[in-house]
Amino acid sequence: MTPTRTHKVYAIERGTVIDHIPSPLAMKVVEILGVHQEGILTVGINFKSEKLGSKDIVKVENLKLTAAVTDRLALVAPTATINIIEDGKVVEKRQIKVPREFKGMLRCPNPNCVTNVEGVETHFVREGDQAKPGVRCHYCERLYKEPSELVV
Ligand SMILES: [Zn+2]
Repeated sequence: MTPTRTHKVYAIERGTVIDHIPSPLAMKVVEILGVHQEGILTVGINFKSEKLGSKDIVKVENLKLTAAVTDRLALVAPTATINIIEDGKVVEKRQIKVPREFKGMLRCPNPNCVTNVEGVETHFVREGDQAKPGVRCHYCERLYKEPSELVV
């Protein structure tokens, strides 16, 4: 197979490329994106990366990321970059920003938390830096250092 053909397998004309996902979190990213998207979804795992050591890449045809999806992605892959592709070219590069607050999109693992006992909408506040964010439950005040595990 020539390099050109290999490239064609992965290139998309229009859609979104999520790059610099820390390995092995590509499948978690796919989970967040949902499988109901139209078009081809390509997952690349364990690419070499100077920044991360190894990285995953997810490409989705025709996908427009909503703010809610981007916020979830931020918790799973804060180092990720988002490239918007049109006519086979990158027209926009977005750096993921981890929001300061998350409402209704994470689940508190504390079984005694009011969000679990009374079904109150969850509310978390980010702590720590952008690259390695933690989240604290607004209600039970527990701090979680692996917020990707709380994403529902
Ligand atoms: Zn809680």
